[in-house]
Amino acid sequence: MTALAPGATIGILGGGQLGRMMALAAAGLGFRCHIYDPHEAPCAARVSAAFTRGAFDDRDALTRFAAACDVVTYEFENIAVAPLAALGAKLVPGARSLEVAQDRAAEKAFLGAVGARVAPWRPVDSAEDAAAAEAALGLPLVLKTRRLGYDGKGQAWAREAGGAAAAFEAIGRQPAVAEAGVQFAAEFSLIVARDADGATRCFDPPRNQHDGGILRRSTVPGGELVESQAAAARGIAERIAGELGHVGVLTVEFFATADGPLVNEIAPRVHNSGHWTIEGALTSQFEQHVRAICGLPLGDPGLVAGGAEMENLIGSEIERWAELVAEPGAAVHHYDKGEARAGRKMGHVTRLSRRA
Ligand code: AMP
Repeated sequence: MTALAPGATIGILGGGQLGRMMALAAAGLGFRCHIYDPHEAPCAARVSAAFTRGAFDDRDALTRFAAACDVVTYEFENIAVAPLAALGAKLVPGARSLEVAQDRAAEKAFLGAVGARVAPWRPVDSAEDAAAAEAALGLPLVLKTRRLGYDGKGQAWAREAGGAAAAFEAIGRQPAVAEAGVQFAAEFSLIVARDADGATRCFDPPRNQHDGGILRRSTVPGGELVESQAAAARGIAERIAGELGHVGVLTVEFFATADGPLVNEIAPRVHNSGHWTIEGALTSQFEQHVRAICGLPLGDPGLVAGGAEMENLIGSEIERWAELVAEPGAAVHHYDKGEARAGRKMGHVTRLSRRA
């Protein structure tokens, strides 16, 4: 792959905070970003060189967008794949990574095929399937919509007999997967970058704490248990990226169980649990992604400090901005998204710890 030179334009499908932080990192290397998003004023467009407002299935608009960009990437996975053919070979990572990650059944089948451990699961398309899944998997179990789920949305738990059919109602009778409830001691994620030659670099895995399905905090180092499963998780993440032919950053979310790491889900992109890398790693996940898709050598993902902790600012928590910017050592990120709706990720703060 020929490396892109400074001044080249990176197209980003999606204009949320991940696109925003990617655009800021790209600017640092001398690249310009062009955001493509259906919304009126996405927060990534505010820090980018160009913005096209368009639907993700508008092939003509996508064709014009591709003509204006040297490479096109994405910051979220819920985009229909067929219209992206309009982007041709400029789409990096390719459509295969999207296809697998945007459908929980395809994802689990893929993970099983590459030898990654996942929770026992069943596809569920009807109340009868839900009842059969309950009989096969036992309780508790969680029903998750196959598509368009994020931050715990499109999920319902079944804990008592007959609960799976009720959970299927609760998610609106949409095509789903049923997953056995996993007994885990911790959640963590492994962020891997893979370049076009197949070389990979991994970030240290943070321990992730969720609240109501939304990431609350990521901490690196992730503690003894996470560190003891890091090498196995790295192997799994590298295998997934390789099998997908993925170029760019890819995130694998894990449950740390007594039997080792078990994959919860994959995201074919930069991830909330990697925001700590902006201050905490020699190369941030955003710069690393830009490097990979532009054909540049991958950077050093090593820690710059003893550790880092990233805390999300969700909904009205963004009102702590003034207090946080006054806190010595706190790196505050405000996404400039406008209305602070409940559950909406509005910003984050990272604090580094000194080397022991
Ligand atoms: P997800 O959107 O799939 O990442 O799920 C959101 C959160 O729900 C996860 O981070 C876990 O805390 C929890 N969760 C999801 N699936 C399971 C499972 N099979 N067993 C136990 N907890 C789960």
